[in-house]
Amino acid sequence: MKDYKLRFRQIHMDFHTSEHIAGVGEKFDAKEFAETLDEARVNSVTCFGRCHHGWLYYDSKNYPEMVHPKLVYKNLLEDQIEACHKRDIRVPVYTTIQWDHYISSRHPEWVCINEDGTMVDTCNPESKGVYEAGFYKTLCVNTGYRSYIKAHIKDIFESVKDVDGIFLDIVMVVDCSCKTCVDAMLKENYNPTNRSERLLYAKKMLEGFKKDISDYIRSFNPDASIFYNSSHIEPALRSVQESYTHWELESLPSGGWGYVHFPNSIRFARTTGLDLLGQTGKFHTMWGDFHSFKNKEALQYECYRMLAFNAKCLIGDQLDPDGKISKEVYQLIGSVYKEVEKKEAWCKDAKAVCDMAIFTPEALGFNSGCGGVIPQSVIGTSTMLEEIGHQFDIIDLESDFNDYKVILFPDEIIMGETLAQKVKNYISAGGSVIASYQSGLNPEKTAFALETFGVNYLGEAPYSPDFIVPKGEIGKGLAETEYVMYQQGTQVETAGDAEVLCDVNIPYFNRTWQHFCSHKHTPSSHQYGYPGIVKKGKVIYYSHPIFTTYAQLHPKWCKLLIKNGLDMLLPEPILRYEGPTSILACVNEQVYEKRYVLHMLHYIPEKRCQEIYTIEDVIPLYHTKVSMKLKEEAKAVRLVPEGKEIAFEYVEGRLEFVIEKINGHAMVAIEY
Ligand SMILES: [Zn+2]
Repeated sequence: MKDYKLRFRQIHMDFHTSEHIAGVGEKFDAKEFAETLDEARVNSVTCFGRCHHGWLYYDSKNYPEMVHPKLVYKNLLEDQIEACHKRDIRVPVYTTIQWDHYISSRHPEWVCINEDGTMVDTCNPESKGVYEAGFYKTLCVNTGYRSYIKAHIKDIFESVKDVDGIFLDIVMVVDCSCKTCVDAMLKENYNPTNRSERLLYAKKMLEGFKKDISDYIRSFNPDASIFYNSSHIEPALRSVQESYTHWELESLPSGGWGYVHFPNSIRFARTTGLDLLGQTGKFHTMWGDFHSFKNKEALQYECYRMLAFNAKCLIGDQLDPDGKISKEVYQLIGSVYKEVEKKEAWCKDAKAVCDMAIFTPEALGFNSGCGGVIPQSVIGTSTMLEEIGHQFDIIDLESDFNDYKVILFPDEIIMGETLAQKVKNYISAGGSVIASYQSGLNPEKTAFALETFGVNYLGEAPYSPDFIVPKGEIGKGLAETEYVMYQQGTQVETAGDAEVLCDVNIPYFNRTWQHFCSHKHTPSSHQYGYPGIVKKGKVIYYSHPIFTTYAQLHPKWCKLLIKNGLDMLLPEPILRYEGPTSILACVNEQVYEKRYVLHMLHYIPEKRCQEIYTIEDVIPLYHTKVSMKLKEEAKAVRLVPEGKEIAFEYVEGRLEFVIEKINGHAMVAIEY
């Protein structure tokens, strides 16, 4: 379905329910269920067709033996749908694909096999096999199981009326050595004994699976929403985008993903053109954390951040086995969704306005497994840019580079011919580049793939840690002295008319068992070693893995060196403000409303315990000065949804105004 639009206020109502619990659904009241959701301003709820235990929650025509054996309320799903539809609440149906305890224990021949012959358990690599608690044995969709999945989907459409869409959970690339996969790999000339070939085959096979299943779902309802959940949205999913109607970004900040996963996933996802749904949970930690409540301030931040990043909101919950919906949970959710409802007019069809982009190393390979992994180099870059207040996307090979004034290639972007040519064209068309460490090297890592970087590669730096000496424009805000660079860089020499912006001094010696000094690294010998930062035209090259270092240790001098480099390449960025680095600022545009919308968020996630980050307080900010460089000239500036006018002026071509108070989240509409 083209241009599928999501609703703004959604719930994912988990219902993984053990067969050892009696009276399932006995306290379910359809009217109360829908009314409670409606009062919390929920307008879409994903309800359960089938759970990870493998049980069905509707009156199945074809698989009565798979209906939950203790289900008292036989038409649970049907009545959830009917009651919700009466209140115009959409109800996509949840089903599970790779985790199903009923199927995996009855059909071990359908379970993915590790190379050592054991069964794949996605969440317990050291699984006790049959005797492990949990439903994480992972099913292979290349086996006879696929026919069952299709029969099950057919059963949903035949047994349940008005299915709005299907949410297919746990659909991941799995390194599988089951008989079906091995035979298929041999037939298609993959080497099954090689892990990367197995993963390539698994990726291709899974793409075929998604296409097959989406075509099948669309044969029952061409308008059904369809989503295959593997949590992280990455460049590798582009090739199978047609099988999805939208993206859902499962990313519970207190559930293992942390607060950094969501922005780094959505900054790419929002460039693909599909509508977006952010997923968090009402749980204090994670799915299945019954009778726990997320702090309201954390829930506000997570939902408002979704809006700022052009996504609709989804909050995960789990219905108690007796089927009674919790009033208290929906008071919490409602307190946030009532605010979302007021804000959404300024978020509808909004597009990010960016002058920069980070090229992700994910574009050069692909992730697999549970949750996805954001490369450290990307996290370091995006953390820096967010702290500075820059507006940026995350991009891949298929992106149009000319949409951005500056592209950052962090630390590990090896350039084959296609990418090198694309970067060359971008630079000759006037684009600016920041590259660091190995970015720009050819696939053999013997030389830079393009001359436009102004450096020749001599090899890995002979000393590490070594010491950068800031000076001049690139060193603004730093002393002209040595600053340690913790991770080993490259040794380069300048080529052509390139200019060295910073030198690197070397230590007396590298720390080894034969010679070392003090507790940590050896101090500087104050002797010059090699260039640290080189500029050629609109390209600045940093010889250290400066972004990975920032992700790991957060040295402020690394950020300032990048900030100053960006100021040299892009003196007039879209946004500047005077405020703490804890602000998250996003600039969006609603073209058809003729306005820009600036989101300013100020919530501070803190780690006050061993395991998770959370937010307990909203610390308001006052008199935040904002300066913007926008294409269109402002006619009015307004705090929204309040509607209060804000005085503004133009100073040297930049729009300037003051936000009196940011109480967690402020939106400013700039009307043109
Ligand atoms: Zn397999």
